[in-house]
Amino acid sequence: MKCPICSKGNNCGYHSCWCTKEYFPKEIFELVPDNQLRKSCICKECLDKFKEK
Ligand SMILES: [Zn+2]
Ligand SMILES: [Zn+2]
Repeated sequence: MKCPICSKGNNCGYHSCWCTKEYFPKEIFELVPDNQLRKSCICKECLDKFKEK
C-alpha cells in the first residue's frame, strides 16, 4: 500500500497496522485526495511531519 500524500510505502497491514494505534489529526486528511480517503493509510513519515508543524 502507498501513502496517499507522498506515494511512498506506508508499511500498513490490514490487521496489524501501526496506524491503528496512532492518533491522526483530522486536518491531515485534508491533504489526502478524495478518492484515496479511507483506502490507503497515511505513512508514519507524513504523520510525523504533520505533527511537527
Ligand atoms: Zn507519506
Ligand atoms: Zn494503516
